[in-house]
Amino acid sequence: MFGKPAVVARYETQLANEWQILENEMLDTLGVSKAEWMDFMQNYRYKYDAFEDNLKREERRNGQPLSNNFKNLALQLFQKINMNPGKVDLIRNESSGRRLHASRSAIYVSENKLANDTPNEIEASLLHELGHIVNSDDEFIYFLEKFYEWYGKKSNGFLGSVIKNFYEKPAGTKGITAKVFKAVRKKIRHFQEKREDTWAALYSIVYARALLSIYKRMRSKYKDRDSETHPSFSKRIRNLQYICSDMENDPDMRDGQVCVR
Ligand SMILES: [Zn+2]
Repeated sequence: MFGKPAVVARYETQLANEWQILENEMLDTLGVSKAEWMDFMQNYRYKYDAFEDNLKREERRNGQPLSNNFKNLALQLFQKINMNPGKVDLIRNESSGRRLHASRSAIYVSENKLANDTPNEIEASLLHELGHIVNSDDEFIYFLEKFYEWYGKKSNGFLGSVIKNFYEKPAGTKGITAKVFKAVRKKIRHFQEKREDTWAALYSIVYARALLSIYKRMRSKYKDRDSETHPSFSKRIRNLQYICSDMENDPDMRDGQVCVR
């Protein structure tokens, strides 16, 4: 396939714009300029690397080899989407669901998922997790948390005292402001989930439909509500339904081919 299908380009632009608005909103709420924020992330990078190294050691301790079946499935997926498989470790984990850490890190796959999901569903979930890695989602949240901490220690003003008490549920006006900070983090996490659903779905209508069926199944099993980290299943389903119908109308996407971009 030559060039990017129109529907993919359109969603990518839309997501980039949405992110820009959200980032500006975040900086406004925190009262920092873009330059200060970039500086902060630069200065904290070495701490983040140390944090990542720790996780990596833990993974080696707790991780278990995956079945060959799954390894083959993952390799095929990486080949399909033109991704270097050396970038990510795939690790079997007893805990349900998958967990991941940022850039040089791992995707955990539970036995439960391997046993119950279809190959397309497993590939689609993998893609969603890869989206988190490619877009450095955990890294961003880590910097945001560190910024709250750093600002709380540094500032003697009102905002500083709010952030100092951030984890202690302060009352009154401080409580309201702390809620605003928490809301910023929640909004960013929800955006990240939507972006990675979209990122995965745009590779192929096959993956878009697979994610839809996963979330529909989960909606019938678990509570359908927003959490601190994830939007409700209904919201995620609605987003994917839009994408599916847009793909069905795009001649480059409707036949279910995998789009390399
Ligand atoms: Zn996710």
